[in-house]
Amino acid sequence: MRQHKLALCKEHYLEWIPEQTARFIKKYEMFAHDEKILVAVSGGKDSLSLWHILIKLGYQADGLYLGLGIDEGINYSHESQRLTEEFAASHNLKLHIVDIEKEYGQPIPVIAERSHRGHGKPCAVCGLAKRHEMNRIARDLGYDVLATGHNLDDEAAVLFGNTLNWSSEYLLRQGPVLPGTAGLARKVKPLCRFYEREMTAYAIMSGIEYIYEECPFADGSQSIFYKESLNQLETARPGAKLIFYLNFLEAKKSGKLFLEKNVELANLHPCPRCGQPTSTPDQCSFCRMIEKTQSETG
Ligand code: SF4
Ligand code: ZN
Repeated sequence: MRQHKLALCKEHYLEWIPEQTARFIKKYEMFAHDEKILVAVSGGKDSLSLWHILIKLGYQADGLYLGLGIDEGINYSHESQRLTEEFAASHNLKLHIVDIEKEYGQPIPVIAERSHRGHGKPCAVCGLAKRHEMNRIARDLGYDVLATGHNLDDEAAVLFGNTLNWSSEYLLRQGPVLPGTAGLARKVKPLCRFYEREMTAYAIMSGIEYIYEECPFADGSQSIFYKESLNQLETARPGAKLIFYLNFLEAKKSGKLFLEKNVELANLHPCPRCGQPTSTPDQCSFCRMIEKTQSETG
């Protein structure tokens, strides 16, 4: 892990990931040990690993699998459901399965086609249905919190997209925890600080059988393009993705993200040397720099 300047053997790696997860759960105040967690599982490495880790840490976590009815490619939905069920059975865990087609009479691709949303791709409809159903099950079955397996690569790609568009509403809502409101379950992302390859390594070393294929509709999506761009950046500057995400969280927390709203002009005072307005204590940064260079040459 170049970004942490850390190398671990298998045994310690399998301890390190849950330890770090526990640290993030605490740091961002995601949930407590007496709360009931619903983990959204897709059959992929991230969500199954998340479930695995939460159980290892002693949390009460049940799974929710949403059958989207995506039969394209390798029969994606069928295969991902099979692997999710196998995981739950082999670890003796409770899994809720909601089949969209049984529930609403039509699978996701058909709903997408009929509703004419999302320009020929079912992803907008799929995302909407997933959010709706996850919240419905969490609320109806009395779960305190909904956990998803989003990793750092996912979060950095979303952040990148939101920043390119300056989508301030989305930026304000993005983070490891989205607090619950009346009728909406609290949402948490305990893996949001792990790189995708760290989660792959965790799943493989833990012997978790997961679906390797992406959903066939993910091909050519904007988020994959953003991920590839960020990977190039990461190759040139290891840790860039993590810094991008963490500095965003920091800026948001300190209220510095949306400058116009938050920087009070009243905090400016005239620099005693040049008279221009400045927010730094005493002299402005320019005068301070000049003074320093002059005192060094002099
Ligand atoms: Fe749904 Fe597949 Fe699109 Fe993801 S890529 S939002 S699973 S249709
Ligand atoms: Zn509704």
